[in-house]
Amino acid sequence: MRATLIYGAGDVRVEDVPDPRLHEPTDAVVRVLRSCVCGSDLWPYGAKKDATEGDRIGHEFLGVVEEVGSEVSGLVGGDVVVAPFVWADNTCDFCTEGLQTSCRHGGQWGAPGVDGGQGEAVRVPQAQGTLVKLPVGEDSTLLPSLLTLSDVFPTGHHCAVTARVGPRTTVTVIGDGAVGLSAVLAAKRLGAERIILMGRHTDRTDLGREFGATDVVAERGAEGVEKVGELTGGDGTHAVLECVGLKPALETAFGVVRAGGVVSRVGAPQYSDVPMDGGLFMRNITLTGGVAPARAYIEELLPDILDGRVEPGRVFDRTVGLDEVPDGYRAMADRKALKVLIRP
Ligand SMILES: [Zn+2]
Repeated sequence: MRATLIYGAGDVRVEDVPDPRLHEPTDAVVRVLRSCVCGSDLWPYGAKKDATEGDRIGHEFLGVVEEVGSEVSGLVGGDVVVAPFVWADNTCDFCTEGLQTSCRHGGQWGAPGVDGGQGEAVRVPQAQGTLVKLPVGEDSTLLPSLLTLSDVFPTGHHCAVTARVGPRTTVTVIGDGAVGLSAVLAAKRLGAERIILMGRHTDRTDLGREFGATDVVAERGAEGVEKVGELTGGDGTHAVLECVGLKPALETAFGVVRAGGVVSRVGAPQYSDVPMDGGLFMRNITLTGGVAPARAYIEELLPDILDGRVEPGRVFDRTVGLDEVPDGYRAMADRKALKVLIRP
């Protein structure tokens, strides 16, 4: 079969790889219907050291079950399923606490010996715990929105939940990428009263408004902080959802959070030191967030997609075939595409 491999910065190739087969009785093989490129794929795409052998890549996909191992129950060939961006048994102590990203028997897509999602098919470890059956057909128009259950929609939701977003909360979302826009949608869904979206790409912030943003702030840094201050009587917002992963974004977050408020970060941090000074201590600011246990939220978010109450799939603004995946990476890296859908 064909699958995507990354060899180094700016070097993504689609090549022939061995067809996936069942290795463990807990495996399934899934034929991929839709996959996509993640903002976090752009970090290795921007910085990975050149290698002679490529690594499989892609961690968001949905598809059709082709085969299941002898210990997999509840799934049969022909089921349409979505996979969260890490695989997990969904039964260990961490999984039952809703932290499938720390599963004792789980792991990452594209790790050595594990398939990536940007290919024609995937061997799914811990299939029973990992895969969630979707009550739709292979040709459903909901596939793009359902695919966001792999990562961006639950990640935005995790950000909002950990930041304690609910009715009567005011929210600032930092970042107008797919996760930031998903965080707007999630905050709206949880009843946030006011949602200020910080982003400077008008086409993206326009979608953010449709997802529920009440205000858009295009300014960044100190100017952006000042602007949010003006909108909130100088207080800032109860919750700040940091969906970028760069230190300036975190500094902005601390600048716009209201006393007693929460900053949640779900952008994969590209920094190691967190500037939590005495001022934040005196204002009782909480810093939370982290990698989203997408699997924990899929059942909760799925009905809203099936009913059409939310359309998180609108973050996809370009669709490519498998052979055009390198173009898709380039378009996202050059900010010419918000999020690229792959149709193998
Ligand atoms: Zn587990």
